[in-house]
Amino acid sequence: MKCPFCGHEETGVADTRVSDEGDIVRRRRKCAACEKRFTTYERAEIQLPQVVKKNGSRIEFSRAKLRASLDLALRKRPVSTELVDAAIIAIEEKLLSAGLREVLSQQLGELVMAELKKLDKVAYIRFASVYRNFEDIDAFSRAIKEVSPGTRKK
Ligand SMILES: [Zn+2]
Repeated sequence: MKCPFCGHEETGVADTRVSDEGDIVRRRRKCAACEKRFTTYERAEIQLPQVVKKNGSRIEFSRAKLRASLDLALRKRPVSTELVDAAIIAIEEKLLSAGLREVLSQQLGELVMAELKKLDKVAYIRFASVYRNFEDIDAFSRAIKEVSPGTRKK
């Protein structure tokens, strides 16, 4: 790495340390020419995709927004915060492993619904009804039927 002081091409690593959490590598470097010292930090680049909304605009993926919608769906439901955290992590991992630069908001909604379905049926239906905005009644009644097996057979 180039020296930030004199621009010399050769700098040596004097010391390498990994953070307690194991997610950051810190290196002390020393320039071979001017002998000044500097530190570099190395961390894994985790890039979640941009979310493409229905109107075509793009927004940054937001864990806070994701949590807010899960919390809303799960309001007063007997689901622990730990399980909600795990659901959020599962959604992020699916997005990361897909390696996409962009994800449609509908696809993100489907991922949320898949997690809610595992967590709590009431929350799942709440989310599904808001998410699908009652525009598609068939989709909504399908959602209800999917989570209440045996209540009404077609
Ligand atoms: Zn230098």
